[in-house]
Amino acid sequence: MPSARPAPRPTVDPHTTGPARAHDVHDVLVVGGGPSGAACAYWLADAGWDVVLVEKKRFPREKTCGDGLTPRAVRQLQDMGLEGALAGAHRYEGLRSCAYGMSLELRWPSHPSFPSHGYVITRHDLDQLVVERAAKAGATVWQETEALEPILDPDRGLPAAALSAATPRTRRADAAAGGAGAALAPCTGAVVRHRPTGTTREVRARYVVVADGANSRFGRALGTARDRSYPLGLALRGYYRSPRHDDPFIESHLDVRDEHGRVVPGYGWIFPLGDGRVNVGVGLMSAEGRWKGVNTGKLMAAFLANAPASWELSPAAACGPATGGKLPMGFAVGPRWGPTAVAIGDAGGSINPFNGEGIAYGYETGRLAAACVGAALRGGGADALAEYERRLTDAYGLYYKVARHFVGLISRPRLMQACVWTGMHSQPIMATLLRIMANLMRPDELGAAEVAYAALASIGLVTPPDGTAGRVSP
Ligand SMILES: Cc1cc2nc3c(=O)[nH]c(=O)nc-3n(C[C@H](O)[C@H](O)[C@H](O)COP(=O)(O)OP(=O)(O)OC[C@H]3O[C@@H](n4cnc5c(N)ncnc54)[C@H](O)[C@@H]3O)c2cc1C
Repeated sequence: MPSARPAPRPTVDPHTTGPARAHDVHDVLVVGGGPSGAACAYWLADAGWDVVLVEKKRFPREKTCGDGLTPRAVRQLQDMGLEGALAGAHRYEGLRSCAYGMSLELRWPSHPSFPSHGYVITRHDLDQLVVERAAKAGATVWQETEALEPILDPDRGLPAAALSAATPRTRRADAAAGGAGAALAPCTGAVVRHRPTGTTREVRARYVVVADGANSRFGRALGTARDRSYPLGLALRGYYRSPRHDDPFIESHLDVRDEHGRVVPGYGWIFPLGDGRVNVGVGLMSAEGRWKGVNTGKLMAAFLANAPASWELSPAAACGPATGGKLPMGFAVGPRWGPTAVAIGDAGGSINPFNGEGIAYGYETGRLAAACVGAALRGGGADALAEYERRLTDAYGLYYKVARHFVGLISRPRLMQACVWTGMHSQPIMATLLRIMANLMRPDELGAAEVAYAALASIGLVTPPDGTAGRVSP
């Protein structure tokens, strides 16, 4: 039965406002208040649903990230009414691409749906803005509240049988192929712990959204797994004081080398924050276990030592120790839907393998999930959640497949060097690549990027990604 759309509720903390009623069943429980969870909670609350978001940290909080927002992310923030709140953040115009002593400045292209600018803003500030927006729209936000384990309800549909019938391997392949034969375990809430007091309680909901990030312990408890044949990003970042803190371009270096001087698949970045600091990092793509042994700390040290002197980067300019994390990409994680739950953002492996961007895809998958959960609440039930997987495939399936091919190619150092060397001699080639890699192809025009992508996609349609021949692949 669809519930009536309730009036937005104020943000309350059940741990400080007295014991919540045990029989309360919310429309939706969102686990995690990063970009994906906060955006999903915002869209659900904006539609009038009774949504509770639990977040284990207290915001604002640090989150390891490059802090770079592309036009795709800005579009989502605009749609949530938040671009005005970014006024204090550093707005930038495009990407300076550097390699082998050459550098090219590439402005963000014009596009009918996306702006031609981005921002660099710490996650400390950005994530707070979106969670506040969700709360203002009516979501109930419980901070310092950790979802310890799901409340499972085997009576909610068949998928428990589907789960037990499938091996982990077939489930992963199945999930990556569209989730037809695998599903998240039926879940109707979570046992949560309020960290300051240590009290635990049950939070029940008709639908649950898993948005607990790359490590996703909650998602694992519902049956998600990462397909290890898919590429995985590993990245490290730190903040540095720099005289070029307000540079109008973000900078990426495509010839990052390990301690043996080998060029590795990935890039180094310098993203200006406009507040006296720059965010500096290195990211590495590991495909089929290759490059896994590379020490990102040593990569970072080598990158800092070789970065253009004008940035004045040195250990003495560091604002603190560098921190790192994993980037599950290309829908490496599945299943992403079940009869009562969906997984979004990094919990669903949604990062773009071309460039390691995950914030925009967290917002976008959160929004898509909100639409499907809303349809489920209006009476569509599990079928509406299955639609989430279909819509993901429609929106990103082919693009991510092409991107995974790309990562397979750049894992071969000679090929990567040849491509970068050729590209760096041609502004049009790099501008084309930027449009493809940032997923900013135009739907209304057939330009160089669109033609090049169509060619790549036609190869991608007939060839399995490197090393995956013979297995089910999207
Ligand atoms: C070094 C590095 C650099 C990156 N740079 C960029 C970049 O420049 N631009 C970009 O677009 N992307 C970048 N990314 C990727 C980006 O950070 C992620 O894709 C993005 O954070 C995903 O958002 P999310 O909401 O899915 O997960 P998260 O941001 O990880 O949010 C998950 C939230 O869930 C909470 N949580 C976890 N478990 C629980 C639980 N059990 N109960 C309650 N709460 C819980 C966490 O505290 C966290 O707040 C980078 C990643 C790394 C590691």
